[in-house]
Amino acid sequence: MAKLIVSDLDVKDKKVLVRVDFNVPIKDGVIGDDNRIVAALPTIKYIIENGGKAILLSHLGRVKTDDDKKELSLKPIAERLSELLAKPVTFVSENEGQKVEDAVNNMQDGDVVVLENTRFQDIDNDFGKRESKNDPKLGEYWASLGDMYVNDAFGTAHRSHASNVGIAEAMKKSGKPAAAGYLMEKEIKFLGDAVANPVHPFVTILGGAKVSDKIDVITNLIPKSDHILIGGGMAYTFLAAQGHDIGKSLFEPDKVDLAKQLLKDAAGKIVLPVDNVAATEFSNDAAREVVGDDIPDNMMGLDIGPKTVEKFKEILKDAKTVVWNGPMGAFEMSNFAEGTLEVGKSLAELTDATTIIGGGDSTAAAKQLGIAPKITHISTGGGASLQYLEGKELPGIACISDK
Ligand code: AMP
Repeated sequence: MAKLIVSDLDVKDKKVLVRVDFNVPIKDGVIGDDNRIVAALPTIKYIIENGGKAILLSHLGRVKTDDDKKELSLKPIAERLSELLAKPVTFVSENEGQKVEDAVNNMQDGDVVVLENTRFQDIDNDFGKRESKNDPKLGEYWASLGDMYVNDAFGTAHRSHASNVGIAEAMKKSGKPAAAGYLMEKEIKFLGDAVANPVHPFVTILGGAKVSDKIDVITNLIPKSDHILIGGGMAYTFLAAQGHDIGKSLFEPDKVDLAKQLLKDAAGKIVLPVDNVAATEFSNDAAREVVGDDIPDNMMGLDIGPKTVEKFKEILKDAKTVVWNGPMGAFEMSNFAEGTLEVGKSLAELTDATTIIGGGDSTAAAKQLGIAPKITHISTGGGASLQYLEGKELPGIACISDK
């Protein structure tokens, strides 16, 4: 069933509570990267340009003690938002109580209020972590501040917190709508719909350190994919399952049987590295050598090799839908980054395909390459995008009203 979207809402004169993802890197009050604030602008602008009042809620970092509060206040973020919107933004140094209610009641149409970090509710109270444990009273309280709710924070959609699920449930209980913001809409469209019903050929590319982190993704995507290209550290457990020597490469012995089973279930769809860039140490200074699919005893595979890159490219060139999660090697070290960068480039070259990147490392690689504008969708959530690719229902999406 299609979900209600912010653009379906008549926001005029309405108080709209919006859960945004302002969880930006911040140090001593200085924002390291404001991408997430910029990404929230379309939803906020829709509300204020259509005569609504936007009341913004977000978490920032993990708040364990009072000492964390100073570093994790949303005040600098509200200031940056005000610059980006080129209009005043009211920051309230609390997220519950009289100060909050006064600020909300004083709002005019088109105004923006930012409440303090939702995770300040995770300390100093009887319930325990009220935000992260989804205290229903907190969700009800926040819901009582507004006429409608919009969830635009995909990064926390795999969590059931008071500021996403709690508010949405309370809103719906009182007959008010809970909609998805524009960012969330995009995630649903690509990670949800495009992957559930892909245009074929559908190629899945998986990498990263461990098989154990990606088992559910592989299992979910085997039946849907035409090819599953596997690189990164996780490839070596698969190569070991096929009887290859993997030297000192990353290896999960307790996953060998599973890897064998997955290779069998995938019936030829899984494509493994045919050559590798190997070194004696996990170091950018270690001498690198291209070896085949058997790795010498004293070496470890740290990247896919050039023949593998060619093989992957050959398969990718006909793809109509591609999902990529996880690097093809230890790409943080320049000597072992080529496989990841080449895969990124071949995605960027596809002009007639839907290309989707999920996961922090592949996103970092796409940005490093400057190819981000050529990718159809780069997911904003790490854990959330992985769970979506696993075919799981995310609580932060499930709680949004159907159209
Ligand atoms: P993940 O978080 O599972 O996506 O894994 C990403 C991490 O896996 C990165 O930090 C990479 O350096 C690491 N990685 C990828 N391939 C290898 C490899 N062949 N050997 C060791 N580490 C790897």
